Amino acid sequence: MFSISPFTLLDFPDRTACIVWFAGCNMRCGYCYNPEIVLGKGKLGWEPVRDFLLSRRNLLDGVVFSGGECTIHSQLIPFAREVKAMGFEVKIDTNGSRPEVLRQLLEERLVDYIALDFKSMADNYWKITRSNLFLAFEKSLEILLVSSVRFEVRTTVHAALLSHQDLDKMGIWLRDKGYTGNYFLQHFKGDKKTLGGMRECRKTDYEIESSVWRNLS
Ligand code: SF4
Repeated sequence: MFSISPFTLLDFPDRTACIVWFAGCNMRCGYCYNPEIVLGKGKLGWEPVRDFLLSRRNLLDGVVFSGGECTIHSQLIPFAREVKAMGFEVKIDTNGSRPEVLRQLLEERLVDYIALDFKSMADNYWKITRSNLFLAFEKSLEILLVSSVRFEVRTTVHAALLSHQDLDKMGIWLRDKGYTGNYFLQHFKGDKKTLGGMRECRKTDYEIESSVWRNLS
């Protein structure tokens, strides 16, 4: 683990929660706000995290596993089993690159909410993530679509990386896949150090028109 944020009202919908940050990621998005976590090594073992969570039983509703990319860690599933056994709800923030991990989490009922990052369509995926993981992301989406778990899809928008047309294509593709929930567009702010040194960009007209999120139903 990289670190813990002991309290958040913003990261787990309708729940009080803490965030457990996992070091490392299998993508390298230029706009990533967490370069220390993506490139860093874990500072914490599971023991202090477990002790912290035990001290928060009946005080917090949930635990968010974030990063970095938490699903690349083989310990994620055993950790999730322990956290659920302590009585917490679990949320996973993921780039969708490990569908087999999502499938196991769902089969064992170890997760209650998932935030899935939709980086771009396949043609832009390498440019944005420096990875070829679009098909893995697509598989993750398909697994979530046939599950009963609550989940959301979100895209970080930087005008230099995604055009109005790209965002239109992504929205149509999501809808054609059968997604009918909220599709969140997060404007890249450029107020923090990023992995690729990306700077502030203006909001696209599209973001302004769609006022942060679109409901695709
Ligand atoms: S923004 Fe990209 S590089 Fe950063 S944690 Fe998410 S997937 Fe990894």
